[in-house]
Amino acid sequence: TARKQEQSWLYFSQIKEQQVESKMELWQDLSTAIDENQLYLVFQPLFDLSNNAALSAETLLRWNHPELGPISPAVFVPLAEQSGLISRLDHWVLNAVAKQCRAWLDAELPFPKIAINLSGISFLRSNFENKLHTIFDQYDVSLEHIELELTEGVLIEDLARIQDKLQRVRETGASISIDDFGTGYSSLSRIKNLPIDHIKIDKSFIDDLDANTQDLKIVQAIILMAQGLQLKVVAEGVETELQLSILREAKCDIVQGYLLSRPLSVADFEALIDEDLII
Ligand code: C2E
Ligand code: CA
Ligand code: CA
Ligand code: CA
Repeated sequence: TARKQEQSWLYFSQIKEQQVESKMELWQDLSTAIDENQLYLVFQPLFDLSNNAALSAETLLRWNHPELGPISPAVFVPLAEQSGLISRLDHWVLNAVAKQCRAWLDAELPFPKIAINLSGISFLRSNFENKLHTIFDQYDVSLEHIELELTEGVLIEDLARIQDKLQRVRETGASISIDDFGTGYSSLSRIKNLPIDHIKIDKSFIDDLDANTQDLKIVQAIILMAQGLQLKVVAEGVETELQLSILREAKCDIVQGYLLSRPLSVADFEALIDEDLII
């Protein structure tokens, strides 16, 4: 099953992290991988706690290395950022998502909004919003189907520049979320004037939610302040029923995690869309 596959995938990718060949070789392999279709996408649904329905899905990148087997994006994405491959990698993902959306539109499958992880490097490129348009226009797919996940790190840039950039990207129709919130230097006061739709509280605050009262206080504070700013809050990495009920109690808007669904292959994700996506 998909669940089993993803589990063994995680297992192997963890081993791999410990014994990866030289970084140099790996990034050359990654360059080849982009050209030779060793990459593919999986989709993990996010659920709206107001009606328990699937609201969107985050697409996550997978690399099946011909000799080493699966390698985690936690390994190869940072490597791509260091080696200058990241623009090509992000471009590959955007193109693959646009192509997938076109296939779903042709099949009349009512897919939810698709969230794409985007490196700050690509986002900050001067012509990024044009590129985004060009890619999705090619497949005649509206950017209203798309959300971009940016990590908090992007926000340490000059605020006026970021505001302008976010505005221009938002004008394409795509929505924006801030990923891994709480781990970086940013704060809600910095976010308050930015055109952002969601913030995703980092998994590290969710992990110990059932035992650590400090983390619960932080999560509650983020949710309260976000409400004041009309921002919806996503909790990522929800793994237990107890975490889920604490998050409901705290009036968290949206949840994502293994408890609700693992990242799914395209086929499994399509089967889930066909059923009613209710938790
Ligand atoms: P992220 O954006 O914070 O993604 C969430 C990660 O948590 C994913 O790991 C996901 O599979 C995992 N996850 C989801 N629910 C749970 C849970 O309940 N428990 C646990 N333990 N983990 C959970 P993944 O797929 O290995 O991705 C790692 C990171 O790699 C991502 O972190 C993101 O920063 C980056 N990444 C993944 N796909 C892409 C991509 O297409 N483009 C770019 N630029 N970066 C990507
Ligand atoms: Ca993400
Ligand atoms: Ca995250
Ligand atoms: Ca992360």
